[in-house]
Amino acid sequence: MAEKIILTGDRPTGRLHIGHYVGSLRRRVELQNSGGFDEIYIMIADAQALTDNFDDPDKVRENIMEVALDYLSAGIDPEKTHILIQSQIPELTELTFYYSDLVTVSRLQRNPTVKTELGMRGFGESIPVGFFTYPISQAADITAFKATTVPAGEDQQPMIEQTREIVRKFNSVYHTETLVEPEILLPQNEACMRLPGTDGREKMSKSLGNGIYLSDPAEEVKKKVMSMFTDPDHLRVEDPGKIEGNTVFTYLDAFARAEHFAEYAPDYTDLEEMKAHYRKGGLGDVKVKKFLNNVLQETLEPIRSRRARFEKDIPYVYEVLKKGTEAAEKKAAGTLEEVKRAMRINYFEDTEWLETQIRKFSGQDGRA
Ligand code: ATP
Ligand code: MG
Repeated sequence: MAEKIILTGDRPTGRLHIGHYVGSLRRRVELQNSGGFDEIYIMIADAQALTDNFDDPDKVRENIMEVALDYLSAGIDPEKTHILIQSQIPELTELTFYYSDLVTVSRLQRNPTVKTELGMRGFGESIPVGFFTYPISQAADITAFKATTVPAGEDQQPMIEQTREIVRKFNSVYHTETLVEPEILLPQNEACMRLPGTDGREKMSKSLGNGIYLSDPAEEVKKKVMSMFTDPDHLRVEDPGKIEGNTVFTYLDAFARAEHFAEYAPDYTDLEEMKAHYRKGGLGDVKVKKFLNNVLQETLEPIRSRRARFEKDIPYVYEVLKKGTEAAEKKAAGTLEEVKRAMRINYFEDTEWLETQIRKFSGQDGRA
């Protein structure tokens, strides 16, 4: 049977937040522990982070360890998963360069995620080429490990589609089966695909500063929850409230489980009942927020306490990164070799090339 391989990653532009957790990280841990995969790679995408943070290299540098700590505290197990640092694997850059021959400028311009992100960052006319072409580098990351499965949030869908196109084009142009087409694995639950920010904006994002972080202290989480965006027209408790676009309920969709109701809101058996009460009127925002706070605290507490332990052993985390990166480079080097062979640029590996050149220039190939 064909191998099953996972590749995912995060940009070290900040600590990880609960959007990352429900969008991808929680799933990665489940998949890791399911035993259903042959290899798992999780990448800290520092080179990608530099494409729009090139003028702030220390931000990227400082967040490598933060993200690694977030991984370990969320349950990523280095015995089962390689954690790697993108920039330390030169093969990925080399692959990016060759793949860029196969992608047109207009195709990149049509990538919806690139479009949105360009707008968000306000580059105007000054778009860095590296940022514009990062979907190609992402294709290199995914294919270098021959990943079959990419657990990620909804914003990654156009990236995976573009990767699949590159794979098909590469394999057909070079008459090879070297590259593998990956599949995206989206969260099952709508709310988890793109968790909104605490300010009600469409996406919780490190770059927008509207996140609840996995490493936020309990008090901080509570403060953020209590000042969250709800239904702006729900002024008095007895008023009917809206669920759609109400961020507190979206978070409950993503996090609340039956046992949370039994423990913290025994008046309701499930979220549907709570929503019905809110819609009808008579359920205040503060009560719902207090419930959400309890749910989040229960989810985040084990993560926080594991983090505290890993923070006391940074040399261990450093070793994890180093070993994971070494293992990943080996894999990427194998793929790059195959890619170069397919693209006919493997002169020193291929003794046949030397022999044909000798024959050609000694007139033995029939040339006059
Ligand atoms: P940046 O603002 O620097 O782009 P980010 O917060 O968007 O940071 P990324 O590192 O780009 O985070 O994304 C890492 C992974 O987390 C991706 O799989 C992405 O789909 C997922 N993800 C990020 N934000 C969310 C969110 N709000 N909801 C669900 N998934 C998310
Ligand atoms: Mg992002």
